[in-house]
Amino acid sequence: MPACPRTLLGGGRDAHRRAAGTAALPRKEENGVERTKAILVDITKCIGCRSCERACKEIHGFPKETELKLSPTALTIVEEHGDKYVRRMCMHCQDPACASACLVRALKKTALGPVTYDASKCIGCRYCLVACPFSVPRYEWTKLVAFVKKCDMCGARQAQGQAPACVEACPVGASIVGWRDEILEEAERRILGDSKYVKHIYGSEEAGGTSVFFISDVPFEKLGFVAAPRQPMPALSAAALGDVPTVVLVGGALLSGIYWITERRNHVAMAEARERAGTNCNREGH
Ligand code: SF4
Ligand code: SF4
Ligand code: SF4
Repeated sequence: MPACPRTLLGGGRDAHRRAAGTAALPRKEENGVERTKAILVDITKCIGCRSCERACKEIHGFPKETELKLSPTALTIVEEHGDKYVRRMCMHCQDPACASACLVRALKKTALGPVTYDASKCIGCRYCLVACPFSVPRYEWTKLVAFVKKCDMCGARQAQGQAPACVEACPVGASIVGWRDEILEEAERRILGDSKYVKHIYGSEEAGGTSVFFISDVPFEKLGFVAAPRQPMPALSAAALGDVPTVVLVGGALLSGIYWITERRNHVAMAEARERAGTNCNREGH
């Protein structure tokens, strides 16, 4: 295990012990403000073992097979980019566009940080698929009664003081979890203290800030990271979906929001068509 601050939870057996140790603690506050949790993925440390993928599938009871893309049965995956391995998962945005696009509030940002989904409220409109700047939510096309699927940052486990299953499973501390402010400090300490790192914490600004951060020694755009708008997405997406009086948004911001959402709608429509075509092919045995 690499050294990491005591307050941060790394992976492996020690993580379990440390996580269990936090169970009795009340939720921390700083200056009267409740603190939230965040995950840091250090791409320079990831060895591509896929223990995170497997742990996530196991706690959800999903089939064990590795999947190349996020899917209703793969809420986190590990992509290969040359000799680099990159996890994909919900970014748990601070101000999530998926939640603001959801007319029935099936998606919400919880006080502890995870963005969770309540299937009992979902009406299957799939606005969240369109709104997400990171193309995360997946839809269960093959099921008669279909729901949206995405990572919930193991919100229930974290509420009990446990680390997310993926973090706990990481044998080298490439994924760690902790209080968001401390996680950000740790990420900053690493990138400023070692010249190999790109001088940016992905997620610190994207979509107005997230609760999952990445640091890397390879430019993010070369690893498939999207250049998400730096401002929070809900105002833009909600306006385009007719949820916010347009008077609160002016000029360029409104136009760029509508343009962005239109592009996203097209993108998701194409992705849905491809997914449906793939499903049909599989059913027909092609
Ligand atoms: S990454 Fe997408 S699905 Fe996850 S919280 Fe942000 S907007 Fe929602
Ligand atoms: S936080 Fe939980 S649900 Fe999300 S990827 Fe990790 S194990 Fe899966
Ligand atoms: S468990 Fe850790 S080292 Fe293994 S693929 Fe996931 S993040 Fe990388």
